[in-house]
Amino acid sequence: MTSKKKSWNPCPKGELSNLAARLGCKRRMSAMCLAMFYGGSASLVLLFAMVGYTLLGTMGLSELECKTVQTHLVEYRANDLDTRFSNSIEHHLNKCGHCRKKYDAMRDERVSMAWHQR
Ligand SMILES: [Zn+2]
Repeated sequence: MTSKKKSWNPCPKGELSNLAARLGCKRRMSAMCLAMFYGGSASLVLLFAMVGYTLLGTMGLSELECKTVQTHLVEYRANDLDTRFSNSIEHHLNKCGHCRKKYDAMRDERVSMAWHQR
């Protein structure tokens, strides 16, 4: 009966504090890992955003140059453009008075031509 109780050995001295130290170390390591993970993913997101922005730019979704807009005004007027491209031209026209004037002039010209044809 009592022999069973004696077979159980108490933890050696220092074992628990060693374990605690090891756990604390692990926790510090994981904190560092988390910081690196979040920092890394944040910069990754930033990188993807930049790459995406550049890609969208080449697709004609971001800022257009006045020259590009003006060369496509006729197609834009005729609704002959890709929806995305047409949208970005519209966006440009809404904020660029110079191109807006050109577009309005072209439109007026068309209207007056139609009037003359009547
Ligand atoms: Zn413009």
